[in-house]
Order: sequence, then C-alpha cells, then structure tokens
Amino acid sequence: MAQIKADPNKVSWEESEFPILCETCLGDNPYLRMTKQSQAKECKVCTRPFTVFRWCPGVGMRFKKTEICQTCSKVKNVCQTCLLDLEFGLPVQVRDTALGLEDGAPRSDVNKEYFAQNMDAHFQNSEDGLGSGGFGKAESAGREMLKKLQRTEPYYKRNRQHICSFFVKGNCTRGAECPYRHEMPLEGDLKHQNIKDRYYGTNDPVARKILSGPRAGGAGRSGPPDDKTVTSLFVTGVTEAIAEPDLKGFFYAFGETKSIVVVHKSKCAFINFTTRAGAELAFEKAGGGVNIQGVPLRVSWARSRPVGARSEQRTEAAPSPAAVMDSLQAGPPPPPGSASDFAYPSQDPTYQGSTSKHR
Ligand SMILES: [Zn+2]
Ligand SMILES: [Zn+2]
Ligand SMILES: [Zn+2]
Repeated sequence: MAQIKADPNKVSWEESEFPILCETCLGDNPYLRMTKQSQAKECKVCTRPFTVFRWCPGVGMRFKKTEICQTCSKVKNVCQTCLLDLEFGLPVQVRDTALGLEDGAPRSDVNKEYFAQNMDAHFQNSEDGLGSGGFGKAESAGREMLKKLQRTEPYYKRNRQHICSFFVKGNCTRGAECPYRHEMPLEGDLKHQNIKDRYYGTNDPVARKILSGPRAGGAGRSGPPDDKTVTSLFVTGVTEAIAEPDLKGFFYAFGETKSIVVVHKSKCAFINFTTRAGAELAFEKAGGGVNIQGVPLRVSWARSRPVGARSEQRTEAAPSPAAVMDSLQAGPPPPPGSASDFAYPSQDPTYQGSTSKHR
C-alpha cells in the first residue's frame, strides 16, 4: 500500500488509478476496495472537477473520500483527504512555518484554476513536486523540529465515526445501534477549521495549537528535566524584531547550538544545544528571563516526549514540540473522555461542524 502515497508524481491525475493518501486515511484494511467516480465533484481548493475516490479505511470506521484534486495535493504535498503533509503528517501551517516556506499559490478563483492548470503541465513534465524533495535546502533545523512533532505510526482513530448530534442534544434513540459516536464534543476554536485555511496553511487553529503549545507555556521557572537527553530550551515572547541570528548570538555564549528554530507566528523559538551542559548553563543564566534587542523573553526547558504520555505531565510549564503534538494527537490510546483526544475530529476536513447530521 505504501506505493500509493510514494509516487504521487508519476502519473497525472486524469489517468490515475489511485488517490494520493496518507497512511492514516488509507487505513489498515488489507482488502481495501475503493470506488472511483470520474469528475464527480469540484475540488474544494481549485474548484475544478476531479476524480473522487471513496473507501472504508477499516472495520467500524467511517467512509472517507478525496476532497481535493491531485494537482492541488501535489502542489502542497498533502493527502487528498485529510490535507496533512504526506511526509510528516502535520498541518501545512506547521510544516511551512517550520521550514520557512512561502505560500505562492493564488487565492482568487480565476487565478486558482489557471495556476492549477499550469501545475498540471508542470507535474507532467517533471518529477520535482514538493513530494520528491522539492524543499530544496530546507532548513535542517526546521526538519528536525518537524520530526519531533510528527507521529511515527498511522493514527487510525482519526478515521472513526463522527459524534452523534442527537446524543449531544440528549435524544438519540438508537442506543447501541447508533453508528455514530456517543460522546460529547470538546469545545474551543479547534472545531472551526476550514478546508482552504488548512490547505493554504493560514489561520489554522490546530496548527496554532501545535506551534504554540499549552497556554501555560513559559509560565514560571522550572528546573532541568531529569531526562538528560533533553538539550533544548523553549523561548517565548519572540516578536518579529527577533531573528535567529539574535538568538544565536546570545545563546552561543553558553555552548554550541545544534539548531535554532524560530516560530514567529507563535512567538516562540527552540534553542537546541549540542550538549546538555550548554543547555544547563544557558538556562542558569537566562532562565529568569532575558532581554534581547529590547524584547523581554522567557526561557524554559523543552520537555522530552513523555513516555506513555499522560496529561498531568503536559500541563507543566514548558512544552516540547513532541509533547504538544501528543496532547493533540493522543499518543497511546487515551482513557475515554481524555482531553488529549480533542483535536481529532477537527483535523479531518470532512468534519465541518461538531456533530453528524444523521436522520
Ligand atoms: Zn484542485
Ligand atoms: Zn490523510
Ligand atoms: Zn446516536
């Protein structure tokens, strides 16, 4: 099944036999059968008709279908269904922020179609879509951060049924027969996602959440984590006035830095030291807060990926990228009703409200 997502650039979508999907959307069903309807719907990004595939990704899971055309998928190297990046399984906004990618795709309807047509021709004549290493010399620091954020296994729970809207109102009469999930949706802006925002990587609340970590982030001073492999510090309050060289200039004094990742949209940065000693010294000097270029910054330890991630650990002051991602994607299956489950429904573009509309 891996080859389905592995060579999205080989054939143009018109003759394509398979959709471009991430492993999670594909599911774990070895007897996967797909239905294919040519030109069945408008692509939700470029509005051109495209081939819609529909399949059930596993026992008890809901049917999934492709939402955007293959050209749009290739332009951003994202899954046609969930719109997450094919390499990292992360929202476009997270990927582009970490790698410093600019979004050059047009937004107006006329230009979008024109752009998509041009990209069609481009993909037919070359192999260099984003998917085949087109990031160029993308900042290795950014990639490092993405690797920390990404999940290593497909997350099939994302394919579950939607929440039952009748259950939410307290009047579902189907009981155990009801195909939809009987649980309360989590509140917050995470459910107000829009497919175009996710595609263009702007104003995506899930991405914002991943990038900025828990609201409590940076509060108070916390000591070095017991895990000695942690050599990274987390800086908050990073305004546009602060660039990577400013941070490097300051932190280099304490030890060699392996990488520095600045995320302006989230006003934060990660300082990854080569050694633990460097990180400890830097924290000792800067842990109480520092002033760089006139901007007050707070410095705390980044945390290692929690083993058997539990929410108590996550509420501590300094989130690591991995911990933030875990709190969104719920590492090992969380107990029912755990808050760590909350982002899932909204990460699916087919999920446009909080509840299903059956009956
Ligand atoms: Zn499209
Ligand atoms: Zn997907
Ligand atoms: Zn129900």
